Amino acid sequence: TFIVSGIVAMTYLTNEDTDRDSVANKKIDSLLNLMTLEEKIGQLNQYSIGPELTGPGAKEGNQQIRYEQLKSGQVGSVLNLLGAEQAYETQKFVVENTRLGIPLIFAFDVVHGYKTMFPLPLAESSSWDLDLMERTAAAAAKEAASAGIQWTFAPMVDISRDARWGRVMEGAGEDAYLGSEIAIARINGFQGNDLSDINTIAACAKHFAGYGFVESGKDYNNVYLGKHQLLNTILPPFKAAADANVATFMNAFNDIDGIPSTANDYLLRELLKGEWNYDGVVVSDWNSIGEIVTHGVAADKYEAAVMALNAGSDIDMEGTAYIDNLKKAVENGDVKEKDIDDAVRRVLKLKYDLGLFDDPYKYFDSKREEKTLFNKEHRKLAHEAALKSIVLLKNENNLLPIKEKELSIGLIGPLMKDKDSPLGNWRGAADKGTAVSLYEGIVKSFPDANIDYAEGVKLSIGPNNFFNKTVIEEEDRSGFAKAIQVAKNSDIVIVAMGETAYMSGEGRSRSTLDLPGLQPELLKELKKVNDNIILVLMNGRPLAISWEDENIPAIVEAWHLGHEAGNAIADVLTGKFNPSGKLTMTFPRSVGQVPIYYDYKNTGRPSSGPDQVFYTHHNDIDPSPLYPFGYGLSYSKYEYSNPVISKDKIGMNDTLQIKVMVKNTSSIDGEEIVQLYTRDITGSITRPVKQLKGYKKVAIKAGESKEINFELTTEDLAFYTRDFDYEAEPGEFQVMTGPNSSELKSAKFKLIPNETDNL
Ligand code: BGC
Repeated sequence: TFIVSGIVAMTYLTNEDTDRDSVANKKIDSLLNLMTLEEKIGQLNQYSIGPELTGPGAKEGNQQIRYEQLKSGQVGSVLNLLGAEQAYETQKFVVENTRLGIPLIFAFDVVHGYKTMFPLPLAESSSWDLDLMERTAAAAAKEAASAGIQWTFAPMVDISRDARWGRVMEGAGEDAYLGSEIAIARINGFQGNDLSDINTIAACAKHFAGYGFVESGKDYNNVYLGKHQLLNTILPPFKAAADANVATFMNAFNDIDGIPSTANDYLLRELLKGEWNYDGVVVSDWNSIGEIVTHGVAADKYEAAVMALNAGSDIDMEGTAYIDNLKKAVENGDVKEKDIDDAVRRVLKLKYDLGLFDDPYKYFDSKREEKTLFNKEHRKLAHEAALKSIVLLKNENNLLPIKEKELSIGLIGPLMKDKDSPLGNWRGAADKGTAVSLYEGIVKSFPDANIDYAEGVKLSIGPNNFFNKTVIEEEDRSGFAKAIQVAKNSDIVIVAMGETAYMSGEGRSRSTLDLPGLQPELLKELKKVNDNIILVLMNGRPLAISWEDENIPAIVEAWHLGHEAGNAIADVLTGKFNPSGKLTMTFPRSVGQVPIYYDYKNTGRPSSGPDQVFYTHHNDIDPSPLYPFGYGLSYSKYEYSNPVISKDKIGMNDTLQIKVMVKNTSSIDGEEIVQLYTRDITGSITRPVKQLKGYKKVAIKAGESKEINFELTTEDLAFYTRDFDYEAEPGEFQVMTGPNSSELKSAKFKLIPNETDNL
């Protein structure tokens, strides 16, 4: 461990060195001077390493190469190792056996919880509650850190408009503004104020870039994007992440217009590390350096390694391209050692910031792990997050909340008793089947009801392997009869349908967006015998549920809500909690409408209708979305005034004040997400018909009117113009307020150029 202690002992403090960063940089330089080229490249190599590598038998079989590499300092960080004890053993092995004793970083996909599962990120984004998202990320970090992890590959900040893409569950929806706010909240939650705190972990903004725009929503597919779209729609959350000091970025698997992201020097060198001045680490996605070969842009892994390193990818995750080729590349002059040094410096700086050079074992404490994982406080937070993530999509005939307790309630559906699906995909280290099922939640909440249950249909998928076709059982109707009987005998029927955990997520794209399998058929049968159906949806993506919307009186979007799913949904059904979530991704009427999103642009064809929209459409379907971005109901009813603006002309340095009155006209207290949009009527490039610019989530008591105030500055109106300048363009604007992106009231104002601008 001589360097670990050696590096601490090195004091470079001079009078000018007032900040930790300059001290760190000098220490890192001195360490770099001691390192051989192989050791440097080792820091850029990341593997999944299991206990079998450091334990007995490690030197046998195909583990031997990795074992030797670990021992000789050729591995810099490790992913997917679980538990403080294993991490400690592996750390000790490396610190004690390698020449320089440089500690490893342990990384893991902590996406929506580690042991305690919170709602899927897409679900949680429906809360629009940044403080909540920061708190759940902080709790997830605390659990993961106690289990020996210092780095999560989250948040995924990819914007996506295509619900066929299985990974929409991991993101924050379709909007660049909201996506940026949520990215910052999650990063702050994971990282806290101090990375060296043993309760925080380094975050990772991924996937850089364009991964949410894979063609036809097929995972890993190629991406075609214009530069304006890249800059104005896809990159804002990444820029926000860089500005929020996210410790790391991750490459994307996809290419953009022919250039694999992992070898994209415009994205990495010019933009991220150049213009944005980002000094953190860029990690590849799983073997995405090796995949430059499969993309057909590098002939072999040698070329791939050269391209990726030169483009600015620092760490090779699971690829062996760097470890096998970079030394030769330096010797051949294809890669400059100074570029390797820059990458290594970033990795060492992260280790320094995590406090690993002060104490490489500080994160590993099994007692702390035991106390932290799945504790009461985290369960309580999971419950709060689940409540706030639920979106009430439809509520007719006053079906909800369920007022009477002495009812006969029929509980039907393949997800009703499912204790596993609510945990969702990317479920950290959660134990299988440990969520509170909806069945359990309802039984507890309706002790006086007469409850009957039928599964109805099965929802089964194929092997948990994202390269296989997901097989959905479509033949077995043997459960129909009992389900229909239960529906017939009940006052009300609660149906839990949707997707199992592994129908969304990585490699889980779908070509349709309806309820999978026999679920729609069963639902139609139930509807024939009972009108009082409440449909509870559990799913990882927007669904196309037009028939359901037309025929089922009450629909609750409950996503995959994590451990407390059943309790939280039951609280909404009883009215103990008044739902307040709003969609962050548009629900289409049919899969043929995707990609569908609220901030589309007009075409050149003359417009029709009062909003001058939807000239472009399919001839066989209502062109509007089924449920628009920002939509969600509550048990309260709200009335919005017109927006009142402080001036109808503003200069380039002015601020516009906007006021809107929102009245709760119901007898139920509620929380409402009041939304602000603008439209830039004429621009140097085509402009979206509306763009979210702000929102307020406010509690409004029954009968109360609240004045909601917003401010707009020219910074809020800025975008990458025709000449790729980031600025607001003078001209006419519309400002709009309302409860969702489709029900807006508007006012107009003009942005006037500064007089000096015309000189
Ligand atoms: C995913 C990443 C993830 C990585 C490590 C990849 O397949 O695309 O998002 O962080 O695996 O698990």
